[in-house]
Amino acid sequence: MSTLDDAISLRRTFAIISHPDAGKTTLTEKLLLFGGAIQLAGAVRARGEQRRTRSDWMAIEKERGISVSASVMTFEHEGLTFNLLDTPGHEDFSEDTYRTLTAVDSAVMVLDAAKGIETQTLKLFEVCRLRDVPIITFVNKVDREGRDTFDLLHEVEKTLALDVCPVTWPIGMGRDLKGVFDLVRDRVILFDPGRGDHIAEIAVDAPLDSPKLDEAVGKAAAAKLREEVELVRGGYPEFDLDSFRAGHLTPVFFGSALKTFGVAELLRGIGRLAPPPLARKSDKRVVEPNEAKVSGFVFKVQANMDPNHRDRIAFFRICSGRFKRGMKVKHVRSGKLMALVNPVFFLARDRELAEEAFPGDIMGIPNHGQLRIGDTLSETEDLNFLGIPTFAPEVLRRVRLDDPMKAKQLKKALEDLAEEGVSQVFKPIDGSTWIVGVVGALQFDVLTTRIESEYNIKAGFEEAPFVTARWVACDEEAEMKRFMDANKSNMAEDRDGGIVYLARNTWQMNRAQQDFEKVRFTATREQH
Ligand code: GDP
Repeated sequence: MSTLDDAISLRRTFAIISHPDAGKTTLTEKLLLFGGAIQLAGAVRARGEQRRTRSDWMAIEKERGISVSASVMTFEHEGLTFNLLDTPGHEDFSEDTYRTLTAVDSAVMVLDAAKGIETQTLKLFEVCRLRDVPIITFVNKVDREGRDTFDLLHEVEKTLALDVCPVTWPIGMGRDLKGVFDLVRDRVILFDPGRGDHIAEIAVDAPLDSPKLDEAVGKAAAAKLREEVELVRGGYPEFDLDSFRAGHLTPVFFGSALKTFGVAELLRGIGRLAPPPLARKSDKRVVEPNEAKVSGFVFKVQANMDPNHRDRIAFFRICSGRFKRGMKVKHVRSGKLMALVNPVFFLARDRELAEEAFPGDIMGIPNHGQLRIGDTLSETEDLNFLGIPTFAPEVLRRVRLDDPMKAKQLKKALEDLAEEGVSQVFKPIDGSTWIVGVVGALQFDVLTTRIESEYNIKAGFEEAPFVTARWVACDEEAEMKRFMDANKSNMAEDRDGGIVYLARNTWQMNRAQQDFEKVRFTATREQH
């Protein structure tokens, strides 16, 4: 095997999806802890705190207890390299989350044992399903009273139309939690509640029929476990790797992120089951990860990460080839060559300069705005990776500028921020002021605060007469012109000159579609 093949087989790039409060942040911390960086327990939050003090808009995060920006963490465990892409949990930021999910090969779905599938879990799961992303389930908080385990699994099966296959099984729950039973290795991992935040795991090789099991967890719990395991083994399908990787079956682990319990099993499970970096579709062909030439795409752009530099960081997923620092790649959209001299890695400890990177890895590429979401960088032929969508905004507002002298700066601010992909700017063709669209209304608070703190401009957002936006296209030029002429006060352009129809209400939207049958209205705009 060549080193490129080796590196690919040793990588796992994944995200954690969950409803807010299910325990994603806690689990992330603990996974990093197993990644050999013990001092990092708590660091995910601590790092958040530092960031928050840096600029006001982070105060919104703090105030509302949500994390606004996704980030990337790389850690190693038992010879594997894990790239964990963090996704913001709050529903207002789901667009960012969707795009992040285009850059992973698998996902861990965290459920609260007492709550099961919640609204946001369902939404995120649907995005994964759309892309056939394989899902590993972690039922968290078993140190608290939760729902009946069979019930929970039934809910997962029914709600998500997904086969479930337990890999571990809880022995008791809440105050009676004794441990988990590893169904693959036939052993008990005992829970030691006294050890709090430490790694509270003692494994006992106790096959089900062994009296050691009774000794380890007590006679009653052992009897119950034997009964349950029999039901599990008879009632659920055998684990099938192909079915899992096709997104039809989810292996299920149980544990407590808070008590660092069951987390090692989960991490090993990700290593063992989750696929290494996969082939990716482009507009020309399927790109295999072990091709010699480097290619990849930008799935996220973050502006002003450092207030002293007006730089942006483009988050770039490598899809093929072995990347070396200084390498020149073609920016396919502009046709220009770019030398990647100072890419950064997101090692758990800190941002580090990347010398070398492999398929599945995420690099940060500092730039001045050339790189946009969906852009492909390629050493091979001109191709564009597919499937990174722009979503039609669900809330539209008109920009109000308090100081008209600052119109130019405001335009720049709006465009900069739109580049991050969480908001979109539309310029009505009738010459009226910008309309900004977002997927969730909370974004307007973030935008207002950032425009003030990062650009020193006072601006606000007021009601716009529009409720929804659609990208429009038509194969017949004359028909497109007729449509635009008939709807002058509804037409706008996006940042790239894409034509957008802004509707005042659903009736108007439906009417336009009926009157102009040849015009296509789309709610997402694929970048290519
Ligand atoms: P997130 O919103 O999904 O990132 O959730 P957090 O990781 O911030 O956790 C939400 C709350 O649940 C916090 O108060 C955590 O301390 C708590 N929590 C997380 N995991 C566990 C767990 O395994 N057991 C218990 N009892 N609480 C947990």
